[in-house]
Order: sequence, then structure tokens, then C-alpha cells
Amino acid sequence: MIIVSACLCGINCKYSGGNNLSQKVLKLVKEGKAIPVCPEQLGGLATPRVPHEIEGGTGKEVLEGRAKLINEKGGDSTEEFIKGAYETLKIAKAVGAKKAILKAKSPSCGCGTIYDGTFTGNKIKGNGVTAELLLKNGIEVTTEEVIEN
Ligand code: SF4
Repeated sequence: MIIVSACLCGINCKYSGGNNLSQKVLKLVKEGKAIPVCPEQLGGLATPRVPHEIEGGTGKEVLEGRAKLINEKGGDSTEEFIKGAYETLKIAKAVGAKKAILKAKSPSCGCGTIYDGTFTGNKIKGNGVTAELLLKNGIEVTTEEVIEN
């Protein structure tokens, strides 16, 4: 079984209230091969919500308590992002997932590249909080950008 970002399946869980539909990812769900999850909603955040970025590091530093999730208005949602990551891991373990396809660049789901915390579109190397936690637990993580290309 594969864990996939719910927004890639056309579910309107994105911060804006929209989605990031990928027909290839949705097909996996329709075939019974993948399960959609949204870590930010699982962490208790509302939709729509103010967009967040990681300040002071990447998902790794967030899990180590050395960086935080801030939103454009200065609010801190670190606790919700960490909770969402662990709830996603719980689902992954429950279904025996060995792989995840997650939304590129998200502070939760991004893998390899994320925004740098300045809300300017700049990117840095690193993973979102959920992607980092899944990787730490031996789950292979990729993004829809890799799948689409
Ligand atoms: Fe999509 Fe992940 Fe953001 Fe949820 S947390 S909207 S699944 S990128």
C-alpha cells in the first residue's frame, strides 16, 4: 500500500481550500493501491488556513525541536504539524505502507526541496515534517513531480 497526499487526489484540503490533482496519483487510489492522507488536517488545522513555512531549518530540525512552523501572520503551528506527521505515520504503519508519494515543496509533505521560511518563494534542500518522519521510519518517499515526469 502507498500513502499519498490527499490534495494530489483532488481532495480540497490545500491551505487555499483547493487541491493539487494528479491523475496518476488518483489512479493509484482508484486501483486500491494507495490511501490519501492530509497531515495538516490530521494535525488539527482548519481548511482553508494561512500558509505555513518552516522557520530555522527543515522537517528534521522541527522533529528535533530546533525549528518551528510559522504562518504568514506570525502564528506558530509547530505542534499541529508534528501531530499530523505522527498520525500519518500511524496510518502508514496500520496499512503496512512501504512507500509514499507526497506533494512537492510542502512544509509537511515536501521531499528534497521545501520553501525556506521567508515566504518569498525561495527554496532550500530538505524535507517537510511528515516526509522526514516517514523517511526516518524506513518508508520510501517521493513526490508527484517525480511520478509525473
Ligand atoms: Fe496536501 Fe500535504 Fe498540504 Fe495536506 S499537508 S494539503 S496533503 S501538501
